[in-house]
Amino acid sequence: MVQTADAIIIGTGVIGAAIAFEMSKAGWKTLSLDRNAQVGHGSTAGSCAIIRMHYSTFDGTAFAWEGYHYWRDWADYLGLPAGSDLARFRQTGCMVMKSEANGFLERHMAFSRELDCPFDELSPEDIKRRLPLYSLDSFSPPRRLDDPAFGQPNGAAIPGAVMWPLAGYVNDPALSAQNLMAAARLHGAQVRTGAEVVEILQSAGRVAGVRLADREEIHAPVVINVAGPGSSIINAMAGVLEDMTITTRPLRQEVVHVPAPQGFDFERDGTIVSDGDIGCYCRPEQGNHILIGSEDPDCDDHDWVADDMAFNREFTDQWTTQAMRYGQRVPSLGIPSRKRGVVELYDASTDWIPIYDKSALPGFYMACGSSGNQYKNAPIAGKMMAALVAYCEGGADHDRDPLQFDLPYIGQRIDSGFYSRKRPVNHESSFSVLG
Ligand SMILES: Cc1cc2nc3c(=O)[nH]c(=O)nc-3n(C[C@H](O)[C@H](O)[C@H](O)COP(=O)(O)OP(=O)(O)OC[C@H]3O[C@@H](n4cnc5c(N)ncnc54)[C@H](O)[C@@H]3O)c2cc1C
Repeated sequence: MVQTADAIIIGTGVIGAAIAFEMSKAGWKTLSLDRNAQVGHGSTAGSCAIIRMHYSTFDGTAFAWEGYHYWRDWADYLGLPAGSDLARFRQTGCMVMKSEANGFLERHMAFSRELDCPFDELSPEDIKRRLPLYSLDSFSPPRRLDDPAFGQPNGAAIPGAVMWPLAGYVNDPALSAQNLMAAARLHGAQVRTGAEVVEILQSAGRVAGVRLADREEIHAPVVINVAGPGSSIINAMAGVLEDMTITTRPLRQEVVHVPAPQGFDFERDGTIVSDGDIGCYCRPEQGNHILIGSEDPDCDDHDWVADDMAFNREFTDQWTTQAMRYGQRVPSLGIPSRKRGVVELYDASTDWIPIYDKSALPGFYMACGSSGNQYKNAPIAGKMMAALVAYCEGGADHDRDPLQFDLPYIGQRIDSGFYSRKRPVNHESSFSVLG
């Protein structure tokens, strides 16, 4: 007998699992499919899971500020039985260095002010008090190691920073996706792992289900593409690429894990830092380690990947470049010879803003293009996708009259057309992981 569901969700990453949770709560009989053996073991597992509030657009800031509250209230949000093993949100604050390139963060502060999202301006002395191991020499623009000027201060100094004190990170992103899926199951959601989707079925001009690699068909009137870095392949299977002005592509990333310098407990006293002057961000990591990611500076080539299953999972000289860039800021940093960290893929969109939308094929939806910056938004994206599917399946024309969606914690209404697949490229974006 052919298995059926009200809605098939392709992908059990943090966003796919959040959609399953929100839709099953709303009464949909959902079936989540993932080719991996375990829930949450796609790009979510390699995420830095930083929960910050500053974005380059007003809508991006509102969504992230709303998103923070679900991590803060994680246990209440899920409603799992007491004693369940839950991912934990650790509040550390997020310090962002001011620079000419980010307009000294005037726009970011204005958005936060308008949304009542708390922040503090820091002087260079304040930065040193919080991070005594930091040098405040300016090195911009970020450079490659083979540039003779690498590591040479440019004579200026970091003029100050802005601290968003409520920011933090989630200690185990794969577990957070598993938490969401466990919570979805309480509402009747089903999940099948080891199930690779190879075809999107269609009938009478709308989606009809999926075919798996073993030829099994599963039928459903709604299919949602939440395949992370595999999203463009699934969109191509559905034949929905043509009317999209925004497209998605897998982009390879390396994240460095190094021990904190002796004498400073970075795990306890450190903070998340976004530092465009050296093209790096960092956050505390368990075991008094520091995790260092790239802010995609212009001098680095983008390592686009054709196949989200087959890419180089070894560290390259990009690892060393990122570690050495951070070493400019922290001169006492020791860089071990054994490289540790993460190699993973972003699902980067044309303007580094995600797509949460319907498609040209009735019944087929997409939540993709998360561009390295949507982990934090998974719960609210799940809620918005559940509302969007109900809106469209109820007969509304979301392309013409986009869903107006309420962000319950912060009391703001947003136009979800901001995330349309057909939007013009958003030039307010940073065109980087910063969104
Ligand atoms: C290195 C790195 C650091 C990041 N840091 C942050 C951060 O600090 N803060 C932040 O907010 N965001 C961050 N992100 C982004 C965030 O992690 C992602 O946006 C988020 O995890 C994406 O979740 P997802 O559910 O969309 O996709 P994924 O977790 O990738 O899940 C997609 C799933 O789809 C499955 N799939 C794909 N194709 C098929 C198919 N044909 N059939 C069946 N299953 C399929 C895959 O197996 C996978 O499990 C980071 C991302 C990376 C890679």
